[in-house]
Amino acid sequence: MSSLLSTEQKLVQTANLKASVSVKTKPHRRKRIAENRHSDFRRSESHLLDSTLPMPILDDEDTAWKHLLHQSIETPEEVHEKWGEDIETMKTLEKEFNIRINPYYASLIKEKNDPIYLQVVPSKNELIKGCCVDDPLNEERDSPVPSITHRYPDRVLFLVAHECAVYCRFCTRKRKVSDSSKISLKYLEAGINYIREHKEIRDVVLSGGDPLTLSDRRIDYILKSLREIPHVEIIRIGTKIPCVLPQRITKKLVNIIKKYHPVYVNTHFNHPRELTPEAKQACERLADAGVPVGNQCVLLKGVNDDVETMRALMKGLLKMRVRPYYIYQADIVKGTEHFRTRVEKGLEIIQGLRGHISGLAIPHFVIDSPGGGGKIPLLPHYIEKLDNDEVVMRNFKGERYTYPQVQENPTPAVENLQTIANQNGFQIGAEIQDYF
Ligand code: SF4
Repeated sequence: MSSLLSTEQKLVQTANLKASVSVKTKPHRRKRIAENRHSDFRRSESHLLDSTLPMPILDDEDTAWKHLLHQSIETPEEVHEKWGEDIETMKTLEKEFNIRINPYYASLIKEKNDPIYLQVVPSKNELIKGCCVDDPLNEERDSPVPSITHRYPDRVLFLVAHECAVYCRFCTRKRKVSDSSKISLKYLEAGINYIREHKEIRDVVLSGGDPLTLSDRRIDYILKSLREIPHVEIIRIGTKIPCVLPQRITKKLVNIIKKYHPVYVNTHFNHPRELTPEAKQACERLADAGVPVGNQCVLLKGVNDDVETMRALMKGLLKMRVRPYYIYQADIVKGTEHFRTRVEKGLEIIQGLRGHISGLAIPHFVIDSPGGGGKIPLLPHYIEKLDNDEVVMRNFKGERYTYPQVQENPTPAVENLQTIANQNGFQIGAEIQDYF
């Protein structure tokens, strides 16, 4: 108990430390607040930005995460000031996709161009023109109402928040994320009504943006509304919050979530350096509240495109009670060409995981097929031959093994057994030989 308390105290201290950097209200931020009229936390906590008020006392975790968020780096000038990036390039890139790097996530950056930096700091490489497009998964085609993508019969994607705690430069949905005119709470009721009217929907995935940037009150309302729909069996929350702003996983929030089970959380860690004590506490709070937590990571060049990094990530996640679920091949999103790897790299990583770490820690490697064909799992070539009689396979060390197929009228004979034994390198006991 005492160690838990000290961890929590440390967490709030961290928030206070970051918050104490500056509470001056910056002009650009005032402008953004006015623009983001639908933002829950900005509306409710805007007093925190007023430099004429005394420094707020962050004595509770419900306030600490909001304050961290308000101290985010959000302008080309701030990026230039902190890391020396070219200001004109930053201005060009900001027009394509907003910038946000909150102080917690920024504190994980050790040096320019390291794996944390690359994920959130704009790069001139975003201007490279490749084969990438705005909406690679064709989500708009399957969107019956603005907040819903209904592709599979029994599942929907429900976009409930436009904001995130950081804006990832590789984001698949950057055409919409951070834009309150495209993902808006004004579409919330239409989305809930759509789900209510479609009785075939049994699984709802909440996404955005990041749903956990909404206020507790709003999250409670959304979960309650969905849980009241009899045919909705499962609610999933897609969120990067445990990785990028773990302070948001407050006791109050998990108490809200656990009222509406079964609720699953899919989070998004991409690198072992993101597995901090704060992140661990956030994931464990969810797990303790009975929420199964899975991880979906994206294979990103320069970030995690090697076997050692992925092994460390998957092993670390399991220790935090997070089950690795997917490694995604990077989507072909406009402005993200420089993050893409060849598909062979993902296969090599899966091969490098299998046999070397617990099967529990091995995710599926998938390509979300361009054009909206859904997720397709890819496996390294383990099968060499598959016919009516047998399957010939190679294990993780490259050694060959044979598995006999089931026959319509099996007539076991010692010769057959002997052949199989020889192929697989084991011996048949004398009793079995005698039997035949
Ligand atoms: S947190 Fe998720 S939705 Fe938000 S920018 Fe990152 S990848 Fe996109």
